[in-house]
Amino acid sequence: MRDVPPWREPVPAAGVMGEPRERGRFGGYGGRYAPESLVEACREVDEAFREARADPGFRGALAELLALHAGRPTPLTPARRLSRELGVRLYLKREDLTHTGSHKINNVLGQALLAARMGRRRLIAETGAGQHGVATATAAALLGLEATVFMGERDIERQGLNVFRMRMLGAEVVPVTTGSRTLKDATSEAMRHWVGATVDSHYCVGSVIGPDPYPWMVREFQRVIGDEARGQCAAELRTGVPDHVVACVGGGSNAAGTFAGFADTPARLVGVEAEGGAGAARGRLGVLHGCRSLFLQDDDGQIVEPHSIAAGLDYPGVGPEHAHLRDLGRARYATVTDEEAVGAAVRLARTEGIVPALESAHALAWVIREAGGGELPAGSTVLMTLSGRGDKDISTLKELV
Ligand SMILES: *Cc1c(COP(=O)(O)O)cnc(C)c1O
Repeated sequence: MRDVPPWREPVPAAGVMGEPRERGRFGGYGGRYAPESLVEACREVDEAFREARADPGFRGALAELLALHAGRPTPLTPARRLSRELGVRLYLKREDLTHTGSHKINNVLGQALLAARMGRRRLIAETGAGQHGVATATAAALLGLEATVFMGERDIERQGLNVFRMRMLGAEVVPVTTGSRTLKDATSEAMRHWVGATVDSHYCVGSVIGPDPYPWMVREFQRVIGDEARGQCAAELRTGVPDHVVACVGGGSNAAGTFAGFADTPARLVGVEAEGGAGAARGRLGVLHGCRSLFLQDDDGQIVEPHSIAAGLDYPGVGPEHAHLRDLGRARYATVTDEEAVGAAVRLARTEGIVPALESAHALAWVIREAGGGELPAGSTVLMTLSGRGDKDISTLKELV
């Protein structure tokens, strides 16, 4: 599907991916569209976050958790055999090697530490496939907090292993029976629940979505991916910066964290969405879950249920900063199909000995499609964030491979 607009060249704009403007605005997107009691709670989170990130004590404690508990820094792995086949030089930023197996732990450790600093005793979270729920349950256990995770009833049926994992870690998993009983409804329910619990609970959002300050705060907690990769590229590449920086996009947190490290360089930033969940490539302006952004909608403005083989890409929209980066021409958003993603997962497994998450396989599918022809001329250097490992997808893959 090549329905993405062509490159506009004015690449590194100063201030891109800095702080959002007043009330969390990224261009015309973002904001804080929430009930009054949550507006106040968001204001408190914003204030606490600004204070914490300026505090060397907080930054040091987070860096220690990321190193000792999550296993950071993650390696930058040259994909040697696959690169030879594709005629490009592909480097993988290995978020699959973090504790709990995906980038989600970076954000969750940051927010859990912030919640403890704010004197909150409980984390509330939504989850689709369960990855963010497992990361939240993990961070809560580590810091002595309680965790309540909202999950659609259909997802609970599909993701039994992650449900057990969360319970094993001491979290309460609350089934959501409204709407389509999936991620969108779990998010709405978690926000509703927070309204009555803002005094003692922190809402731990799992991607760069939701009301201000979440899109910005989550990006800053995921920035560690891009910052590490930038340093690793400087050491590894002759040019210091790759030609392309590629990541998959559900809500957009691993991509935003990766892009943040390269926003001020000439690298071309590419976000890859699922064909059936392409908020940035196909969405229309709307307001959902507290922010103004691009969402898949029907002609009446009703949210369209997304579909992707990768549960983590099954969100009907995209974070507001991605919508803004798209409008600026600073990043581009492409889509790949379920079949392309499965093919890419098999190819990575057999050339590099890595079984990727199906989400991450979307980013790789774009690289494979464009290598040596389309967007990626022979000899290009490509940095791709491998957002997670594929263990959670084995039962899906078993039916297809
Ligand atoms: C949740 C998830 C994603 C999608 O979330 P983003 O916020 O877009 O990063 C991608 N990959 C993996 C492995 C995930 O678990």
